[in-house]
Amino acid sequence: MNIHEYQAKEILKSYGVTIQEGIVADTPGKAVEAAKELNRETGTSWYVIKAQIHAGGRGKGKIQETDSNGVVLAKSLEEVEPKSKDILGGTLVTHQTGPEGKKVNKVLIAQDVYYPGDSEPKEYYLSILLDRGTGQNVIMASTEGGMDIETVAEETPDKIIKEWIDPGVGLQGFQARKVAFALGLEGDAFKGMVKFIYSLYSAYEGTDASQFEINPVLKTSDNKILAVDAKVNIDDNALYRHKDIAELRDLSEEDPLEVEAGESGLNYVKLDGNVGCMVNGAGLAMATMDIIKLSGGDPANFLDVGGGANAQTVEAGFRIILKDPNVKAILINIFGGIVRCDRVASGVVEAYKNIGEINVPIIVRLQGTNAEEGAKIIEESGLKVTSAIVLKDAAEKVKEVLAG
Ligand code: GDP
Ligand code: MN
Repeated sequence: MNIHEYQAKEILKSYGVTIQEGIVADTPGKAVEAAKELNRETGTSWYVIKAQIHAGGRGKGKIQETDSNGVVLAKSLEEVEPKSKDILGGTLVTHQTGPEGKKVNKVLIAQDVYYPGDSEPKEYYLSILLDRGTGQNVIMASTEGGMDIETVAEETPDKIIKEWIDPGVGLQGFQARKVAFALGLEGDAFKGMVKFIYSLYSAYEGTDASQFEINPVLKTSDNKILAVDAKVNIDDNALYRHKDIAELRDLSEEDPLEVEAGESGLNYVKLDGNVGCMVNGAGLAMATMDIIKLSGGDPANFLDVGGGANAQTVEAGFRIILKDPNVKAILINIFGGIVRCDRVASGVVEAYKNIGEINVPIIVRLQGTNAEEGAKIIEESGLKVTSAIVLKDAAEKVKEVLAG
């Protein structure tokens, strides 16, 4: 689960990570109030207005309606209202949002930490993530902060420092010092960075995160180390023990079909293709997507209805797939193990009747327990459903359907 920058910074702060302070607002008027409050708390008279969306690249991104950037500087209190107005309610397009962009419902009013006239602010990159290859956590750091890290990794991979941490042992003092040293820091900045890395790691562990990315981490001219940005991803499987974090979920940032699928207990991921698919088991779903590709189509989704597929889950799956206007055909691929094919077939027939007019061709491949009974139910239903026993036949039928 992703959370917003302002939420992530609050969590970081609670673990002792030093941050660029800010207050969130959802109207231009509240943005001004936030700026006033921030002035009282921090003494700042310059403010950074930051669009809150679940995507990066906001600084360079553009608000479609007003041409404002997603992160702008206000050099006085008077500038806060008009500049917030240009961002709030607009659609922000960045290299991470896709051309359709994301609606901005909130802005973070933050203190300016690149002090006016400051000649020495230095931006670093710091992230912590799970490295599945080694089964360890890895800290990645770079002196090339503020930039797109993918570009740094591609063009100057030697500028990325990596330090692996055994989760059983935890972060050792020498490791934090090694990273700070490799970033070329000394004196107070070195000490500040070591403490920063320590606190960040404890926040990462304490929240069961799968990824923390702080880009940039700023070294101010008076040698403070601050998190200016924060992208945090929490492991969904751990949310049950972080009720407070689970509440930070912003459904407006997620694909509506994926939200609906989640509510029906379906494991659904929306994709861009034209063949919808419904499968039991994640592995079989992956293989089915390959088969769709090989038959000349493109999967419109990943959908695992799970081992206990019944009429309700099949119907819910159908409804979600049919809401995607790109879908030209649906392939149902069920391997009957514990699930019986005749039950699934009845579910398909029932769902078909309940939903009413379905205008896309449906190909059903049932294999395993009671497969033949299942095929018979579909044939006898008189519905516009093509049945296949062998997966290769199913793929051929998808091909025929797509060819028109
Ligand atoms: P992103 O573009 O979505 O990654 O958003 P960031 O939070 O990283 O902000 C983008 C850029 O805004 C940063 O790289 C900085 O250059 C700039 N920025 C952020 N905070 C401040 C600030 O306090 N003062 C100034 N002058 N610039 C800032
Ligand atoms: Mn950033």
